[in-house]
Amino acid sequence: MDLPEFYPEQTLVGVLTTQPLDRLLDYRAPEGGCYLGAFVEVPLGPRKVLGVVWGPGQGGFDPARIRQVNRVLDAPPMREEMRQFLGRVADYTLTPMPAMLRLASRAPGLGDAPSMRKIYRLGTGTVERQTDARTRVLETLKDYGGLAFTLGELAEMAGVSTSVVKGLVKLGAVREEDSPRDLPYPRLDPALQGVKLADDQQEAANKLISGVASGSYGTTLLKGVTGSGKTEVYLEAVAECLRQGRQALVLLPEIALTAEFLTRVEKRFGAKPAEWHSGVTMTERRRCWRMVGQGEAQLVVGARSSLYLPFRDLGLIVVDEEHDTSYKQEDGVHYNARDMAVLRASLNGAHVVLASATPSLESWANAEAGKYGRIDLTSRFGASVMPDMRAIDMRSEDLPGSRWVSPTLRAAVQARIEAGEQSLLFINRRGYAPVTICRACGHQIGCDHCDARMVEHRFQKRLVCHQCGESKPMPQACPSCEVEGKLAPVGPGVERLAEEAKELFPDARIAVLSSDLFGSARALKAQIEAIAGGEADIIIGTQLVAKGHNFPLLTLVGVIDADLGLQGSDLRAAERTFQLMRQVAGRAGRAEKPGEALLQTFQPEHPVIRAILSGDEEGFWRAEAAGREAAGVPPYGRMAGIVLSSPDIQAVFDIGSDLARNAGALHEIGAQVFGPAPAPIARIRGRHRVRLLVKATKGAPLQAALAKWIAPLKLPNNFRLQIDIDPQSF
Ligand code: ADP
Ligand code: ZN
Repeated sequence: MDLPEFYPEQTLVGVLTTQPLDRLLDYRAPEGGCYLGAFVEVPLGPRKVLGVVWGPGQGGFDPARIRQVNRVLDAPPMREEMRQFLGRVADYTLTPMPAMLRLASRAPGLGDAPSMRKIYRLGTGTVERQTDARTRVLETLKDYGGLAFTLGELAEMAGVSTSVVKGLVKLGAVREEDSPRDLPYPRLDPALQGVKLADDQQEAANKLISGVASGSYGTTLLKGVTGSGKTEVYLEAVAECLRQGRQALVLLPEIALTAEFLTRVEKRFGAKPAEWHSGVTMTERRRCWRMVGQGEAQLVVGARSSLYLPFRDLGLIVVDEEHDTSYKQEDGVHYNARDMAVLRASLNGAHVVLASATPSLESWANAEAGKYGRIDLTSRFGASVMPDMRAIDMRSEDLPGSRWVSPTLRAAVQARIEAGEQSLLFINRRGYAPVTICRACGHQIGCDHCDARMVEHRFQKRLVCHQCGESKPMPQACPSCEVEGKLAPVGPGVERLAEEAKELFPDARIAVLSSDLFGSARALKAQIEAIAGGEADIIIGTQLVAKGHNFPLLTLVGVIDADLGLQGSDLRAAERTFQLMRQVAGRAGRAEKPGEALLQTFQPEHPVIRAILSGDEEGFWRAEAAGREAAGVPPYGRMAGIVLSSPDIQAVFDIGSDLARNAGALHEIGAQVFGPAPAPIARIRGRHRVRLLVKATKGAPLQAALAKWIAPLKLPNNFRLQIDIDPQSF
């Protein structure tokens, strides 16, 4: 491999730092020089900050005032394609480069000197010439049993200089070891046998394998119902990538799915892959970051931020459940990990597999247009089929108020219990009830800081704001009229549904799966395993259950409110509802037992509900695509959302209106500006939010125009502006 450009000592280099500055800073290369892309520590004012050598210096300053790079950090230089990737994401999302660098250097301990990466513990060697200092070191180690320390820690605790410790290492009385973060991962063995693939699976795998083997960029949409074997198939692509000696990355939308995936990888390749997500310890993250950079981690499974890991040679990215909205990062840098995976792969000559039972309209359209390949797995493995799907027309069900399980659904659940099979009751609402109302004055309890209702969580006996997380004990009296004992829940949440199920099926074992009810990923995993093992008759769940878990005994899915997602004016509502309903229904009837899905709805003739029931996916997508094309919205047009926020409601509207009036830069490219209007959530954490929506044609240079448009804007203190390219709702 070619070495990057080298800058000898004292040459001027331009350094990108993590500090919010809009330009590179000039420094003199450190003692010993440095490579292009080197991670460095540089002085900035009185501070030391992290940076990356981004190119030659600009010059033009008084050379005497240019400072020198303090030191090169012990990490492989950032590779060319990574620098390009960060630049492209920055341009696409209109994010300043320092923020991008922060994403790409989230490695705890990146700045540690090499000596800090060794640990020291008691050895077996004997010391002939004992000194006081040596005795103190050995006594310290004995006092702490088998514990290991860094060089500095040990020297300090023993009150000796580090050279004393090193002397003992030479004698073997103290052992020096690599710290765990430098332990390589066990090797994955692609030569081990996977499951015997069915013919259509094998054909799909072969296509992916030849894509990976080509060594050039390509994206394939792998579509197949839950249980059709998508994971088995893409693991064959991973195997090919490993045989090529390149690294692979699998993105999952939810940490809770990782455990099952790790087990499958271990079964297929004989060892577990590296993990990168918020549930991973700091030590593990250091290890992952370093090993990825050294090419020692062959396979990483992770959350969207693993796209910014310093892969040495990335050959394959799998985005599992590619339609999942959690791939869209909504704070800090706004990006969709699915799209960024494609960008990253194109810069690396890597292959992308987008796997889903219900692809996003974007990916479907890209496949239609021939930009992506498409492979369909049409049958479920082992000859089971998509469940039989039917609507329950709630207009003709006899149901008292504050009850949500219709007699028809109740009978179906009862039949499953008697047959020893599992049922899932699905409701996409956390908590006990979405609204708490005062029966005396009609007041609805809202959050003090957000434009949102407080949601009762009865297990915790608290009211919680799902926007800002603020919670308070459930009050006795109405906060408005102060009358006691009149607060009442309105509408169902997952906890309330569980209560109803307990009344309806007193002898059934009921398990509730909702993200609030689990403190840790481990507790959630245990619950999921218990359910899969048959330790529940009825599962009550939120969106959490829609995502890829295998429940072999589950044969009935009952959707409590299929209409829920169709309210509101969001143009993506139909797509979302379609995906969610098909995903949830797909939980039923995996193994030999056929499944059934019943959707409670007040509008069974609604086109989206009809499409869900008929299973005519291509028809649904074509209709959806035609509607979006006619409206000129993504993926057939381009959009950006600009959200302004401040504690001062009048001022945000004023500035928003000014922006809308002075939108010449946008009109030049033929773009339209809508708003300002209250953002989908008009107030969060005490900040009022207004949104402007910008709509442009597909080929228009939207980012350049947006940048020009907002450049003259001087935001008063306490104002924030967020730009969201391809917003989730419009
Ligand atoms: P998906 O990712 O499409 O939901 P999976 O790959 O998880 O599907 O497959 C569903 C289940 O069927 C898994 O338990 C998997 O191991 C099993 N399976 C799929 N294909 C085969 C096969 N060819 N032989 C044996 N088991 C298979
Ligand atoms: Zn709030």
